[in-house]
Amino acid sequence: MPDTLARFLRDLDAEIRDRQDWGQVADYIPELARIDPAQFGIAVALPGNRIVTAGQAEKRFSIQSVSKVFSLACVLGRIGEQIWTRVGREPSGRRFDSILSLEEDGGRPRNPFINAGALVTTDELVTGRAPKEALAEILAFLRIAAEDEEIHIDRAVARSETETGYRNVALANYLKSFGNLRNAPEITLGTYFHQCAIEMSCVQLARAGRVIAGLSCAPQMLTPLKARRINALMMMCGHYDGSGDFAFRVGLPAKSGVGGGILLVAPGRASVAIWSPGLNGYGNSQMGSYAAERLARETGWSVFG
Ligand code: GLN
Repeated sequence: MPDTLARFLRDLDAEIRDRQDWGQVADYIPELARIDPAQFGIAVALPGNRIVTAGQAEKRFSIQSVSKVFSLACVLGRIGEQIWTRVGREPSGRRFDSILSLEEDGGRPRNPFINAGALVTTDELVTGRAPKEALAEILAFLRIAAEDEEIHIDRAVARSETETGYRNVALANYLKSFGNLRNAPEITLGTYFHQCAIEMSCVQLARAGRVIAGLSCAPQMLTPLKARRINALMMMCGHYDGSGDFAFRVGLPAKSGVGGGILLVAPGRASVAIWSPGLNGYGNSQMGSYAAERLARETGWSVFG
């Protein structure tokens, strides 16, 4: 399997390099707007500590919303099911930064992967302690899961979003007005911007994702029930209003970020990280989505058989 897979990934990388339609980088975060969209990397972590890669699999990128999977894992560890009093678990059918459903739903965000929902989970993590400590918990989770200490926050990206993240400022204030933010908006926002600015390579992210894929070689950090819950949310909500299309094309739980990363989970089989910074109209990696579709078809890993 690893040999065939390595050949497939090499061919896929070569094919993608020849393409012209890379999509657009996220331009509302100035530090991300400077990145060349024509880049691609993929890493597939398999049982038995094997890893197969192609392209720029060692290059670090801003994980952005992929971090929301891990902040949710930390919150589930801290307060468990109680989090669902503050945030829902339904697909939103709206853009990742939409404020519309927040008004309709009385300030309880539809799910923890849209921005409003992630602000609530981060708010929970920072309650009763300093932002530094909440961030240390997310970083520690990632480092233990990936078995790699070299996972850090890119301060320039955090600063960049702090200076221009007006929509998130609006969402945090709106949540506060509904009584669904425990901390001052600037405290929760600062923590959230730094969490999104964590940088990782595909290899590191694929290794961290092993705990969500439930690979036996992964450090035991999540109960099977929690992993199952997180996978369900990734399938339904991981690609925002593009989640249905992604499930239709790929058939695997996944979470995207505006840095162009995708964490893709084949439960019990593999944890895959893909990075290509050009985005499609939903704010999901254009070539990353394509590569995920090709990989799922090649391996037969779709959870729908
Ligand atoms: N930090 C980004 C934001 O809040 C994350 C969004 C994303 O990756 N979809 O806008």
